Amino acid sequence: MSTTLLQSYLDRETDAATARHVGAHLDECHHCDRDARTFQQLRSSLTRHGGPDEAAVGRLHDFAHSLLRGGGDESAEKAPEPGA
Ligand SMILES: [Zn+2]
Repeated sequence: MSTTLLQSYLDRETDAATARHVGAHLDECHHCDRDARTFQQLRSSLTRHGGPDEAAVGRLHDFAHSLLRGGGDESAEKAPEPGA
């Protein structure tokens, strides 16, 4: 499942049929389900603060994307992002 689709689902930007499809997949696929939970946790931690500084938000976004891209290896937090 693509990260873009997963994020659209979490943002409720997909149509109802797609949302059902993604939801059913998350029920069956532990990998995507874990990615979705990670993304939701990061987003809720941002939302709680209301107005976090942009540098911190950027770092969290990079971290979330590295998790989603890299399959969630917890040791990947120092992976550099050239040309961001
Ligand atoms: Zn999956």
